[in-house]
Amino acid sequence: MPRRSDDEKKWAMMREKIIGLGETSIRKSYYPELRQKIIELEKTNRELELEIIERQRGEEEIKRNYEIQTIINSLLKLSLQDISLDELFSITIDKILSLRWLSHQEKAFIFLVEDDPEVLVLKAGTGLPEQLPSHCAAVPFGKCLCGLAASTGEIQFADHADERHTLRSENMPPHGHYAVPILLDNRTIGLICIFLPAWHKRDAREEEFLASIAHTLAGIIQRKVMEKDKARLEEELRQASKMEAIGTLAGGIAHDFNNILTSIFGFTELTRMDKDDPEKVVKNIDEIYRGALRAKDLVKQILTFSRRSEQQKRAFQPALLTKECLKLLRATIPATIEIRQDIRSTGTAMADPTQIHQIIMNLCTNAYHAMRHTGGILTLTLHDMEISKEDSDFPGLAPGPFIRLEVSDTGIGMGKETLSKIFEPYFTTKEIGEGTGLGLAVVHGIIQGHNGHITVSSEPGTGTTFHVFLPRMDGNMAKPTSFLEDSPAQGGQEHILIVDDEANIVKIAKEIFEDSSYQVTTHRTGTEALEDFQQHPEKYDLLITDMAMPGMNGVDLARQVMEIKPSMPVILCSGHSDMVNREQALAMGIRAYVAKPYFMSEILRTIRKVLNRSNYE
Ligand code: ADP
Ligand code: MG
Repeated sequence: MPRRSDDEKKWAMMREKIIGLGETSIRKSYYPELRQKIIELEKTNRELELEIIERQRGEEEIKRNYEIQTIINSLLKLSLQDISLDELFSITIDKILSLRWLSHQEKAFIFLVEDDPEVLVLKAGTGLPEQLPSHCAAVPFGKCLCGLAASTGEIQFADHADERHTLRSENMPPHGHYAVPILLDNRTIGLICIFLPAWHKRDAREEEFLASIAHTLAGIIQRKVMEKDKARLEEELRQASKMEAIGTLAGGIAHDFNNILTSIFGFTELTRMDKDDPEKVVKNIDEIYRGALRAKDLVKQILTFSRRSEQQKRAFQPALLTKECLKLLRATIPATIEIRQDIRSTGTAMADPTQIHQIIMNLCTNAYHAMRHTGGILTLTLHDMEISKEDSDFPGLAPGPFIRLEVSDTGIGMGKETLSKIFEPYFTTKEIGEGTGLGLAVVHGIIQGHNGHITVSSEPGTGTTFHVFLPRMDGNMAKPTSFLEDSPAQGGQEHILIVDDEANIVKIAKEIFEDSSYQVTTHRTGTEALEDFQQHPEKYDLLITDMAMPGMNGVDLARQVMEIKPSMPVILCSGHSDMVNREQALAMGIRAYVAKPYFMSEILRTIRKVLNRSNYE
């Protein structure tokens, strides 16, 4: 019997023979290398997989960052435009909610801290038109999630309406929140609140994103608030300079007014003396009329000038306005100063007439000051001009059509030192009470606001010239028609009710209207007129009422009269457009608005127009 070990050896030999390069030899030679290779391959494989995942993640991250940056950029860009904060907040909300990777319930708010430093005021919201809870309109600091975020300056997250959510409404569907404070120097100036699906998991990247939007808004809010302050300051500056110019002009105006009054008195007395000579009487009365016209003009000028108003640009011809300024200047500047003019412009500018008026008056007031002691020549010219691409004389201006205003004087002039400072607010070389140093600062501000340009050249002892360039619109406007048309007004048989507390106006109107064969009834108060009208509403065809009267004013009277008889036409006369303006009067159904002082011929025409129209209705 062979030994067991012999058997084994034999078996082993046989196996090797059978398999040839059998398992043992494989194990001995190739196997370890292969195995190593496989291990390495598997490792590389795993690394590659990891890398791919990493890369995918990276790509998402890049895409997300790109989206975030795009939103921030577009908000910054928008904020540079003339857009209100409320509008900007609405757009911000839309942009936030448009992101796919951000969880939300399509609802979001943005608050702003306004006058009360401890209250969030709702400025924009999406997704809550009907159920907008009123307590969310103004949230005190410390109250509810939003108030908590505001008072702590930290983001508040909630995955459901927990105990911090103190402001609740009925049937509030389950939801969570991110309440993200908008911080400026560690102070809460606003807040973004997003509605989350209930049980949403807090996500650092979402919070980071919302914080960066809040940060962007903080910068924008700060800038907008500063802009508003600046605009307000500029407006105050403009007003102050106007008052200053008025102050300068007041003496001259009073002087001119007295001249006008003197001539009116004089011709009135003459008329009395000449009462038996009809030809002379008519001539004198013409003079009185002319004097009154001049007074009317002067008052109109002063009112245009002193009225505080926002910038209101419209298309108009600076030439007409310049001529009006010249009239005002001639009336106010002493005769030792000669005024020359060369107004050739026919162009139209898109500008605020009151402000252009202010430019001219400020420049001319300075010119006058410069020649006050010596006398001299003030020259005002207005030309249309073209600036071409090649023009190197006007580096500050884009090429195109312009209107050039030139104001020059032969006064004291300025040295270099003064010249370099003249546009600075409060720079003045004049004595206290004579100048405030605001005139040219305002001129400069206005010109910038109109995309124009100003240059100055001056020689001490010789004089100064200012050039103002204003962009001109292509094409010319039709000449505005004068309201004093030549055709005489037609009369009529209708019965007119006139109400004015000024006895003279009532008296003159009655006479003139009756002369045009109208029937006229007059009253001195609204109450009296209303009582009369209540008793005989059918008797009257037209009401002409003054606006400002003691007791019942014109608008109230008109309203009650139109209630009694809706078809009753009303003409409202007012000397003060601040109380009620033309648009407001027409909007309440008044047929015509006539500004005082008016010509009787003008009001006669208006009467006929209004009556004709209501006859057709
Ligand atoms: P103000 O007239 O109140 O002094 P402005 O801003 O209008 O302020 O002008 C600033 C300064 O510029 C004046 O004080 C004066 O020194 C100088 N200036 C302006 N216009 C003229 C001018 N036409 N001739 C000489 N100096 C002028
Ligand atoms: Mg001045």
